[in-house]
Amino acid sequence: MGLNQVSSEIIFNRQNSPFKRFFDVGMSVTCPADALITDSAAGGTAISTGHKTYNGAIAVDTLKQPLETIFEYAVTQKKKAAGLVSTAPITDATPAVFFAHTDTRKKHLEIAQQLVNAPLQVVIGGGRKYFLPNDQGGVRTDGLNLIQSLTDKGYIYSSEYIQDGYKPNSKLWMLLDTSAISKAGTRPFTLGDLAMTAIGQLKQNKNGYVLMVESSQIDYAGHNNDGTHLKTEMEEFANLVHRVLDFIEKDGNTLLIVTADHETGGMSLVHPDDKTQPIAYKYTTKGHSAGVVGVWAKGPGSELFRGVYENNEIGKKLFSIAKSWK
Ligand SMILES: [Zn+2]
Repeated sequence: MGLNQVSSEIIFNRQNSPFKRFFDVGMSVTCPADALITDSAAGGTAISTGHKTYNGAIAVDTLKQPLETIFEYAVTQKKKAAGLVSTAPITDATPAVFFAHTDTRKKHLEIAQQLVNAPLQVVIGGGRKYFLPNDQGGVRTDGLNLIQSLTDKGYIYSSEYIQDGYKPNSKLWMLLDTSAISKAGTRPFTLGDLAMTAIGQLKQNKNGYVLMVESSQIDYAGHNNDGTHLKTEMEEFANLVHRVLDFIEKDGNTLLIVTADHETGGMSLVHPDDKTQPIAYKYTTKGHSAGVVGVWAKGPGSELFRGVYENNEIGKKLFSIAKSWK
């Protein structure tokens, strides 16, 4: 979600864009350790650990050694509950970098196993096939049924979205599709619904929580150079941000960071041929670009996110905030 993806949302939604509700705003330089253009693994690792690494790395450094993540620190040192929500497979790079450690993002089967064993209070996403053996509709070649492992541990598991039909204080997993979840506008819930369900589960922990919510398909729309898909994903993303802002403004004790790991599509906004539309989308690549991305922060500690800085500084800022927690 580069600056022009955000611009498109603001131009379509001038009066009511959630991005206008922030006053602490910064810019993040997304280049990885070994290249100009990052992938989601290196970009996510910079945010989750405070360290730049190579493309493909899941929370490991340039020597492939595991790096502590901000979520691992929050759970083990500060007794926070942790959650991950994504409209991609939950084993994809962005959610993975918060609790898994592998030398390559391609190891979905290993990442699935690491996530099942991670201290996660709530997990909502796609990618069910990575948790099931290949004779039960999955792609695991080791015969393991990790969904059975979840229920054996006493976790609540569902393959359909349940808004709040879970038991208090139990761990909650929802794997809502075999691979990625369907596009915004075609799924029977919104990303905002998933996030608020996760917050409802996590806030039961009296010590507080950390949560990562990924609007994955803003990236997919960029890869496909699909402005129509981008528009529906950005509308849903705006709704998500409004709902979380409403919650944290009332709560008063929660920090929200809205950012991206990179831009996708090298997209710009130009005059449309169709004069009924305010803009048209023009793409320069099917891949990612090196453009800086925005950072929007609200809540305790938000002033730290002003300025222009490298993406791993986001991770370092998060660690400095977490270390100050009582
Ligand atoms: Zn991508």
